[in-house]
Amino acid sequence: MRGVVGNRHAQSLLERAILTDQVSHAYLLTGPEGIGKVTLAQAFAAALLCQRRPPDSAEACGECLACRKIAHGNHPDLIMVSPLLAPPDKRKSAINVDVIREVTRLASLAPYESAWRIFILPRIELITGISALSTFNALLKTLEEPPPGVVILLTSAELDTVLPTMISRCQLIPMQPLSPEEIAQALESHWHVAPEEARRLSTLANGRIGWAIAAHEHPERREQREELLRTLAGLTSATRDERLKHAQTLASDTETARQTFDLWLLWWRDVTLAANGATTLATTGEARAQAERQGRVLGPARAQGFLQALIAAQIALDQQGNPRLTMENTLLELPRLS
Ligand SMILES: [Zn+2]
Repeated sequence: MRGVVGNRHAQSLLERAILTDQVSHAYLLTGPEGIGKVTLAQAFAAALLCQRRPPDSAEACGECLACRKIAHGNHPDLIMVSPLLAPPDKRKSAINVDVIREVTRLASLAPYESAWRIFILPRIELITGISALSTFNALLKTLEEPPPGVVILLTSAELDTVLPTMISRCQLIPMQPLSPEEIAQALESHWHVAPEEARRLSTLANGRIGWAIAAHEHPERREQREELLRTLAGLTSATRDERLKHAQTLASDTETARQTFDLWLLWWRDVTLAANGATTLATTGEARAQAERQGRVLGPARAQGFLQALIAAQIALDQQGNPRLTMENTLLELPRLS
């Protein structure tokens, strides 16, 4: 599909729906942040709304009036209800019961310029708090009795926080992080990033093409991540007190802790690989050199032991929250190197 990188399986599920004329009224695209869930939802919507798509194709032409309106975000039959359009501190309440009632109202209107009325609601896991249940119930009602031609595309990075009754009403489209090769190739061909830079970004992206594109456009994000990697690599020689002090910043909230663990795991896999004598590592440059040095000194058993601890920490964070405590425990399990 136009503009979508990787996740062939997810793409073909949606392509087949178009080509066999069996479009469901609700889809739930799942997978980690930054892997292209909204991009795929938009490409699917564009394919449905495109006025010049041949019947044997599932790809929007990108040129007709409908496609141009979609590109400019002003197609009246494609409605984006994104919490990310709200300021960061308002995102958790951005999709509330009033917003869903408005979606329901808009869904009841006939399409303006096509046969469809398509709603994209990203990150429904952000629907939380005391009014979450009434919001979900309002959404469920729309999912239960969708007017003809209405397609609702939901995305979530945390499937376990979505109500089972809601999942059962949607067709699930599972998506995966991309490989570094897929990211590097897409950066070069679609975003005209130089090969060296594309490779560097792809190794830091941890499968999230959205991050790689953002880091290409905002180099300070790449620098932040390289700085975080340096901090993580330095922790093995830090004292107990120093480690506990780092826990404050590495896990200031759940999202920060999650990102820290993601990057740490990416790099520590390299430490473990290097400890086992592997020469093909994911990271490059200074991070790679550090991984090789620490892997050599630690040896396979200790490296593998902490890899398990990192995986367990991610699960604990997902299940119990408490980012600070999880980070402190992990930091105390980290082997000490002088
Ligand atoms: Zn078109």
